[in-house]
Amino acid sequence: MKNKCLYYAGLAVFIMISGCDNQNQSRADSALILQGSTMGTFWRVSLADVAPERKESLQKAVQRQLDDDDRTLSTWKADSVLSRFNRYRGSEPQPVSDDMADIVTEALRIGKKTDGAMDITVGPLVNLWGFGPDKQPVKTPTQAQIEAARAKTGLSHLRVIQRAEGAYLQKDLPALYVDLSTVGEGFATDHLARLMEKEGITRYLVSVGGAVLTRGLNPQGEPWKVAIQKPTDRENAAQAVVDLQGHGISTSGSYRNYYELDGKRLSHVIDPATGAPIQHRLVSATVIATTALEADGWDTGLMVLGEEKAKALALREKLAVYLIIRQGDEFVSWMSPQFRSFVLSP
Ligand code: ADP
Ligand code: MG
Repeated sequence: MKNKCLYYAGLAVFIMISGCDNQNQSRADSALILQGSTMGTFWRVSLADVAPERKESLQKAVQRQLDDDDRTLSTWKADSVLSRFNRYRGSEPQPVSDDMADIVTEALRIGKKTDGAMDITVGPLVNLWGFGPDKQPVKTPTQAQIEAARAKTGLSHLRVIQRAEGAYLQKDLPALYVDLSTVGEGFATDHLARLMEKEGITRYLVSVGGAVLTRGLNPQGEPWKVAIQKPTDRENAAQAVVDLQGHGISTSGSYRNYYELDGKRLSHVIDPATGAPIQHRLVSATVIATTALEADGWDTGLMVLGEEKAKALALREKLAVYLIIRQGDEFVSWMSPQFRSFVLSP
């Protein structure tokens, strides 16, 4: 069955396991596959050239690391490092891990490059619209509520401080609330890649939710294939297949996480400029970058910016970007020149 050869890593990107149709495939030809769940989503690791005896210990090591990442980054867990920083109401620098400092530094950088469209301080608005740990609203928030929540946001209120003894986060707005949900999958994916390297593994595909990173060749000696899914299809159907060549990929899509309020379909991506969920024809933005973290930051920013601005930014920053745009009942796609070099099939 064809579908057995395909795997969802989130709904927008999936992984094609080539060679799995081959009945005569030898064991040396098949990937060692580990999978599980974390951060409210699924993770998957495919390995080439790794002895099956290592499966159990690797599975445990991956799960342990992802659970640790979740404990650090989650705003859904009251005892996470991030939740503690969010509850803190002062302006003294708060010590954080190097990983946390790196994620925030990268998120702030992309935030600035997207004119604040990607904004990790958007949490109060995310919660107001019911996409955070708070309950979903029963009515559309009023303009006054939106303004009140928006007054608690802004990238300029958050700083990363590097000192000889370690890294710190500092806020100058007591109510500032940092939400790293949008880069968490990318970070965790990069972290998995580092774990594989530490284990001496050099041919792998690692993925958490909609973020994927690959290195080396698959068990058949071919590139690992990652597919961007057609937005209309319930089945796994590829819109484009890419060879990541050691890079990370991430997709942000307006059709993945939403609910209906007052008859309107609301996306969980919030436009910090309006304080409301995005509403435009851009259905998904996929980015390939050196790290999955970077890809995961850009994809959200591009989603917020919408079709025209996203294209302009992709060209200006020379990003590898693939957009799917709704045109009436149809979907059209656009890719930047940098993205084209990763495409194996249209
Ligand atoms: P997608 O499902 O499209 O891949 P992500 O899961 O990467 O999106 O990110 C969505 C989450 O990011 C939201 O649930 C929210 O917590 C947070 N978020 C919403 N809007 C923004 C924004 N403009 N900038 C940064 N984070 C956002
Ligand atoms: Mg993202």
